[in-house]
Amino acid sequence: MNDKLWINGAWVTPADGGRAAVENPSTGEKLAEVSSAGKADVDRAVRAAKAAFEDGRWSRKTPAERSKVIWKLADLLEANASELARIESENTGKPYEYLSLGGDLPFSIDNLRFFAGAARDTHGSHSGEYAAGYSSAYRREPVGVVAQVAPWNYPLMMAAWKLGPALAAGCTIVFKSAPGTPLTALMLAELTKEAGLPDGVVNIITGGNAAGQAMVEHPDVRMVSLTGSTATGKAIMRTAADTLKRVHLELGGKAPLIVFEDADLALAAAKASAAATVNTGQDCTAATRVLVHRSRLASATEAIVEAMRAVKLGTPFEQGVRMGPLASGAQRERVSGFVERARAQGARVLTGGRVPKEFQRGYFYEPTVIDGVGQDWEIVQGEVFGPVLTIQAFDDEAEAVRMANDVVYGLAASAFTRDLSRATRLSAALEFGTVWINDHQPITSETPHGGFKQSGFGKDLSAESVGDYLITKHVMIAL
Ligand code: NAD
Repeated sequence: MNDKLWINGAWVTPADGGRAAVENPSTGEKLAEVSSAGKADVDRAVRAAKAAFEDGRWSRKTPAERSKVIWKLADLLEANASELARIESENTGKPYEYLSLGGDLPFSIDNLRFFAGAARDTHGSHSGEYAAGYSSAYRREPVGVVAQVAPWNYPLMMAAWKLGPALAAGCTIVFKSAPGTPLTALMLAELTKEAGLPDGVVNIITGGNAAGQAMVEHPDVRMVSLTGSTATGKAIMRTAADTLKRVHLELGGKAPLIVFEDADLALAAAKASAAATVNTGQDCTAATRVLVHRSRLASATEAIVEAMRAVKLGTPFEQGVRMGPLASGAQRERVSGFVERARAQGARVLTGGRVPKEFQRGYFYEPTVIDGVGQDWEIVQGEVFGPVLTIQAFDDEAEAVRMANDVVYGLAASAFTRDLSRATRLSAALEFGTVWINDHQPITSETPHGGFKQSGFGKDLSAESVGDYLITKHVMIAL
């Protein structure tokens, strides 16, 4: 595994950073050691990206040429899918067949293919004469050098979500993986060269928060794109204010899943348990707050507890595993801290709430269902980022909407009902960037993903995300 930084199309030894160990969370053992970029390394990467932007080696290629290279990158991911999935599973604990090879890899490939297409449709929309004697045209130009900062929960997929639209727009990039999960991004580095990306267009560095901070501070960076926690989003926005960079923030979530009296309970329970435990609940759209109409509370609770108990835990390369460990020891402490504080406040833990007996190695935690909680409790308001859901009752639609919206986050929500009028009302009333009806979590490359409120702003996926990396110039010509 490479322990260098990918700058200007080559592996370079860090000038001023340190080194960091990378773990396998299903065993707790050391997997690799990588570099932590320092300020001088970040500067070197930004300078490479700036030179690559300024001479137009990428931004002035035709859309068709850019599209072909992005498509080739997708093909290379596909050709290396099993190896990338294996490394991703070792570094994150994700079940290899179910998530890494079956979920993250095919979706990342599809994302890049979508952006290869979107690269050919970035033109400006207006031209005409708006003042006598003048002709106006709008040009949509790439923003310039972008700094992209990724989280640890979907390391490779977040790279696809970030590199794809920025490359489609014609930007050049310094991408930083999260400190604990750098391995697949490092593998991607050489694939960018093989795909035909000119040197300096994609620079991939590893490192911690200080490296991220240096990227945000750098005066030659025009835009920062973060997927991470709300606290980091706020810190980045403050730092970016000094140089007035554009910021694109995909932050935390606390998704409600609302079960109305007319819902298909078996379906709702199956979706709730799947969406609470996928990626071990370390997903910004995870179903974390189940709100149930009081008339169905007992039966819905029973069905959800049963479904959560049936989730098969295991190490990544076992057959039929649905849920792996949490990504690190620190993450498990965080999750169990939330559960223990809720217990101390008087909540009932209906299932889970502990380290499974049969998994004493690694960072496993049982799928957990909690009830007897208050709307203002930390377990209801805060992002746990683990396989934990709470159940609360409501009496009518207005109360359900009020409770669903009553958190600082606004990334995603779902409702289960057979009433079309109610579904239509909910789609307007729920203050979330995505609202699903009778499902939770399906996602496509074509449709926008992004938050309201303190879940951030800017969209990932879809043509809208390419637009976020473009800036409009008005050209006015005296006739
Ligand atoms: P984090 O905020 O701790 O770290 C994210 C990245 O930011 C890391 O690469 C980190 O090194 C960097 N960073 C931290 N402080 C920084 C600073 N001051 N300046 C610049 N960079 C800095 O988040 P995490 O724990 O890695 O990821 C989990 C979080 O990500 C959760 O809150 C989750 O909801 C969120 N997330 C959101 C989405 C979405 O699409 N909205 C998707 C996945 C994850």
